[in-house]
Amino acid sequence: MNQHTRFDLPICLAVEEDAFLHSDEIISRYIPDLIGQKTIIISEEFLIGIYKDKIYDISSDFGGAEVCAMNSASFDEAVAIAKKVCIEDIKVIIGIGGGRVLDTAKYAAHISKAAYICMPTSLSNDSLASPFAVLETVGKTRKTIECLIPTAIIVDTNMINNAPEGQTLSGIGDTIAKHTALFDWKLSAARTGSRIDDFAYALSRMSYDSVYHCDEKNMKSRVFIRILSRALVMGGLAMEIAGSSRPCSGSEHLFAHAIEEFYPDVKISHGLAVALGSIPACIFQGQSPDGLISFFHTYGLDFSPASYGISEDMFADMWKKARSVRPGRVTILDDVKHDTVQLNEIYYRMVNGQ
Ligand SMILES: [Zn+2]
Repeated sequence: MNQHTRFDLPICLAVEEDAFLHSDEIISRYIPDLIGQKTIIISEEFLIGIYKDKIYDISSDFGGAEVCAMNSASFDEAVAIAKKVCIEDIKVIIGIGGGRVLDTAKYAAHISKAAYICMPTSLSNDSLASPFAVLETVGKTRKTIECLIPTAIIVDTNMINNAPEGQTLSGIGDTIAKHTALFDWKLSAARTGSRIDDFAYALSRMSYDSVYHCDEKNMKSRVFIRILSRALVMGGLAMEIAGSSRPCSGSEHLFAHAIEEFYPDVKISHGLAVALGSIPACIFQGQSPDGLISFFHTYGLDFSPASYGISEDMFADMWKKARSVRPGRVTILDDVKHDTVQLNEIYYRMVNGQ
């Protein structure tokens, strides 16, 4: 029986054009208690360079909040921020940035028990509202650590529009991966006799459906950005409700983890790695990957492993390592034998865009 019964939801989810310009009004509408509290803004040096005016506007809207450029997306950095927050009686942490900043700020808020306002500058994965932070622990080795979800999420659609296209494609990949993740979750539940949380399942399925069946094919349009941001947030909340990453992470994520852990020199974002993983995962599951493939073509998501410097041997080895990268996680990989001939076929199919 699933013991997980308690979960939180963010108090505010605002997805608006120019939301960053009036983030203080948004917060005062939803959580007036936070206004006037001592606040710190966590971001990164290069982002503070690019968005200087916007970030300092937000700082002055929140009572002259200190703007802090974090050094690394590490456990130690999150602890250092939390220590500062506790010592200086800071009550609100605002994270402005991509996944690295948001995970560090989220964990710092979790330790220090400060309220956390999440303000993404790009939509590259579903960690923005998830109950997990991915942080460097020893050296560059990263670990996924449980934490509280944000108190408020403010998405500025103009901001996302200005982010590099690859970031949005990565967010699309992380959303589409739910198709194979949910299949694996069901499989695992049947195999282990555990219960599927129906509400978490439905939320994750809807997150996937809203993007996969979206009528808007222009990923730069406001409509699409609104749909994608809500889909990513809903994915995070599905994990919060399930008390696990299972609604959003299956064999396609094991493939991505194998790249992250064993091929750190391969430069591919998390969301694109899981997008690449979802095509073979679909085939292993006995489902046709044609729908995913035509969806990726529609949005210009390049799913050829060769484009990311992955050779056919590396590809086969990544799938081999995917089997043991998260021991105990039941997926379709437990049912299919490692078959290099089949993997080579899939590899060339993907290289040829089919
Ligand atoms: Zn993911």
